[in-house]
Amino acid sequence: MIINGLIYLVTVVIIFIVMEGVAWFLHKYVMHGIGWYLHEDHHRPRAGRFEKNDVFGLFFATISFLFILTGVFSGFDIKLAIGFGIMLYGVGYFMVHDVFFHKRVKIRYRPKHKYIKRILNAHGVHHQESTPKSGICFGFLYADKKYSP
Ligand SMILES: [Zn+2]
Ligand SMILES: [Zn+2]
Repeated sequence: MIINGLIYLVTVVIIFIVMEGVAWFLHKYVMHGIGWYLHEDHHRPRAGRFEKNDVFGLFFATISFLFILTGVFSGFDIKLAIGFGIMLYGVGYFMVHDVFFHKRVKIRYRPKHKYIKRILNAHGVHHQESTPKSGICFGFLYADKKYSP
């Protein structure tokens, strides 16, 4: 039972880390490439409440939901941990990228931790320096130390 819990926990952590890689790859090679038509409005001042770019988040939320659902129906197997890993990454991405950086949800809290400040700074650089076909700082929850403000 304890071993099982440990395997689930390690899986969640691994999936979380893998998701940063997946998001980075998708952002660099798809969103700033063939998928630019969906990401374009994220690089412009937002006109309404939602952006076409939100389909990427919805896509991963759906995958996460399906993993959790099928994991539950097959007796709480490892798919559950995979689904939770994707979900946790989504929550982290949403908080840092959509709430702290783009302020889509108004909250009083301002992050003070130097790690959060670094990724926020790096994302600012991404928005300043990137074009439809190229750019820098494609990560969402990881940024090189050189981007420390
Ligand atoms: Zn971008
Ligand atoms: Zn952004």
